[in-house]
Amino acid sequence: MDGFYSVSKGYSALQTPHCSVYPLAIWKSVWYSHCLPKVNFLAWLVLNNKILTGESLMKRGFKGPSCCCLCKFALETADHLLVDCAFSRSVLEIILRDVLSSFSIQNSEIEFYIAWHENRPVKSHSEILHNNWHSILKFTWWAIWIARNCCIFKD
Ligand SMILES: [Zn+2]
Repeated sequence: MDGFYSVSKGYSALQTPHCSVYPLAIWKSVWYSHCLPKVNFLAWLVLNNKILTGESLMKRGFKGPSCCCLCKFALETADHLLVDCAFSRSVLEIILRDVLSSFSIQNSEIEFYIAWHENRPVKSHSEILHNNWHSILKFTWWAIWIARNCCIFKD
């Protein structure tokens, strides 16, 4: 490295499979899916632990409330907001019931995404589900994120 950043160097680093703790297929599922770019970006933020929750804002010195606004019960972490929160869990359970009844909710949003990825239906079973599998979870997270933002910014 020469100490200078360029877009091509950044792109090359992102294409190197060993630069991530997750398999390359996980990242491909984030960016190469039938989903809106803003929804893909939110998933990327979640998987990189970069989503701006109450906890992460508090670590950056924000003095405002850090409690989950959806349940008003716990510190707002990414795990809580997207997996543990009673509101989010009820949304996820509805989605899971309709899409994959044998799937269980994981402990963290990252474990959840990886398990979701590993349970993707084969194309011969359902081409529509196969092609849109990752989008289902990403749009669900997006809807939870929008509900959270509405709670915060409309009060
Ligand atoms: Zn909550």
